[in-house]
Amino acid sequence: MMIHDDEKKITVSAVYRLLIGAFITSTAFAIFFNIYPTAHIIDSIIPSIDAIVLLTVLIYYHYNPHSDINKVIIFYILFFIITFSPATIYYVWMAWNNEWRFVDEYPPVSGLIMAVIMLGIIMLPKQYKRYIVLMWASISLPIITYLLSHPDELQTPRGYELIGTFGPASLLLYVVFPYQKSINRHMNKVTGDLRRYELEAGRDYLTDIYNRRGLSLWLGQLKHDDNIGVLLIDVDHFKQINDRHGHSIGDRILVELASRLRTIYFEKHTIARWGGEEFAVILVNPKTNTLPFIGSMFQHTLSALPYKAVGKVTISVGISTIAHHEDFCKLIEQADKALYSAKNNGRDQSVMYNDSLTEHHSQAS
Ligand code: GH3
Ligand code: MG
Ligand code: MG
Repeated sequence: MMIHDDEKKITVSAVYRLLIGAFITSTAFAIFFNIYPTAHIIDSIIPSIDAIVLLTVLIYYHYNPHSDINKVIIFYILFFIITFSPATIYYVWMAWNNEWRFVDEYPPVSGLIMAVIMLGIIMLPKQYKRYIVLMWASISLPIITYLLSHPDELQTPRGYELIGTFGPASLLLYVVFPYQKSINRHMNKVTGDLRRYELEAGRDYLTDIYNRRGLSLWLGQLKHDDNIGVLLIDVDHFKQINDRHGHSIGDRILVELASRLRTIYFEKHTIARWGGEEFAVILVNPKTNTLPFIGSMFQHTLSALPYKAVGKVTISVGISTIAHHEDFCKLIEQADKALYSAKNNGRDQSVMYNDSLTEHHSQAS
């Protein structure tokens, strides 16, 4: 979830920079061609239109930061294809019809085109790469084809420069492409690993339910005004189980306890391994007065059926009051006191916290 947001943030900031870069470049070309006009009015018109459109998109994007980033990207690419390809094709077409020599007339925009293509390759997400290739093909293919079939124009400084830019330099795309792909693959792997580690770090290795860390992250996601109630569940005489049957049987009991806990259904709650043979249940917005009932329900569900290899196992439950989820620590303390009282009263029972328990607890300890 968080990682996905990060990806989106990176894309948004990349597109923003791309737009600013393209705007500055177009503006520079527009100023240059308006001060020193070429023989073709189109040379000063296109960069001017580009600059105005890009500025409009930038302003729009600035005031609507939540607008669909994909639409902005598609617009950006199509916009460049629409402004650069027809102009290029126009110059090639006229040259082919002997209206002029292509190398003399084609404006010096190859640097701009290559920059736009390279930036797109480096900064845009993978799924847009094919549009960039389309952009490159629709501009460079006509130029390369023309020059190769007109050797007299090819064998001029401009001719060599153009074919070098759109030929070998464009081949750079194919060097950058796989590199980008491997970076992407690496990033995806790192992202996936991170996601897995994050999940694993919040889980108890033995029972695969939340540990304290996972529980505290879960608590952090509760809604601002959510209240909670806490049950602390502790296995009775667990040490004896370990002593009689061995530690690995003890482990299996804990695993089975966790799976029984998972089968209990409530509207909104979670379970966690609080420590050793102690489990915590957090109930979100429980109805007042239902907690004692829920506590004994847990107690019976967990101890009604015998456990494999050891038979009957009883548990004790301590129940807190209901309070705001930020008072979690206070509620755990209450549940712990109630649990202590359940143990003192002979185990195999659930006890709800009340203020008088505090005194007994402090007297007893
Ligand atoms: P009580 O009824 O008062 O709760 O008695 P108890 O024996 O259950 O309580 P005590 O706290 O004395 O002992 C808890 C035991 O749980 C001691 C410890 O070795 C065992 N334990 C804690 N974590 C694990 C675990 O991961 N696996 C196993 N097999 N035993 C564990
Ligand atoms: Mg115990
Ligand atoms: Mg214990």
